[in-house]
Amino acid sequence: MSQETLIKVKDVNKVFNLGKTVVHALKDINLEIFRGEYLSIMGPSGSGKSTLFNMIGALDTPSSGMVEVSGVNLTKLTPRQLAHFRGNHIGYVFQSYNLLPAYDAISNVILPLLFSGVEPDKAHKRAVEVLEMVGLGHRLDHRPDEMSGGQQQRVAIARALANEPAIILADEPTANLDLNTGEEIINLIADLSRRLGVTVVTATHDHKMLATSDRILWIKDGAVDRLERREDLNIKIGVVN
Ligand code: ADP
Ligand code: MG
Repeated sequence: MSQETLIKVKDVNKVFNLGKTVVHALKDINLEIFRGEYLSIMGPSGSGKSTLFNMIGALDTPSSGMVEVSGVNLTKLTPRQLAHFRGNHIGYVFQSYNLLPAYDAISNVILPLLFSGVEPDKAHKRAVEVLEMVGLGHRLDHRPDEMSGGQQQRVAIARALANEPAIILADEPTANLDLNTGEEIINLIADLSRRLGVTVVTATHDHKMLATSDRILWIKDGAVDRLERREDLNIKIGVVN
């Protein structure tokens, strides 16, 4: 794997001010994520995983510190520039799939492509291609309520990949799925990211993610607890692969 830094998080703090209470959700986070790697952010509920995910994904801004993605300092962008950046560089996968309920699978993939200016016939071709990649070539005209949770998450993964982003961000992608389906989704994300050379960052408390990650960032109470490589972890827990 090349060691080119794609995402740089420097001295990031995030404070939520809720009137009387103040939550210090991220404390002096420093992190570099390399192009092509698969990094999982792990930690208990409320430890700050989603908050960090939102900083890396240009969905929220730090209270202090800097986030740089693909050489762009996100903290210097206007909201409009941030929206543009998200559309061009990052594909998102969420716990709740976030599909448009009234539209079939293919339209769910095509619509964001049209919004980012892709020609309709190209968008259609690309949507078929990515839905086939996630194994849903036979479900193009099914609406979300006609698909299982695992299939809906596959549509969300296809949608995330459609615009050929450098980065896929997945926040708790398996949280609403049963064990087997969750495992299929993890393996699919890992397999596609390696095949396509996409950088993947997941925020999760699902320990099955450990098996597919290159590195694991453990966070605790908003601070980095430790950062480990899976190879080292496997040696520690005696897994041979
Ligand atoms: P995790 O994803 O690890 O479960 P979060 O990042 O969602 O944790 O939350 C970290 C802390 O920040 C929690 O104490 C949570 O209540 C708080 N928090 C997260 N988002 C907000 C928000 N928008 N407003 C206020 N507090 C928030
Ligand atoms: Mg979360």
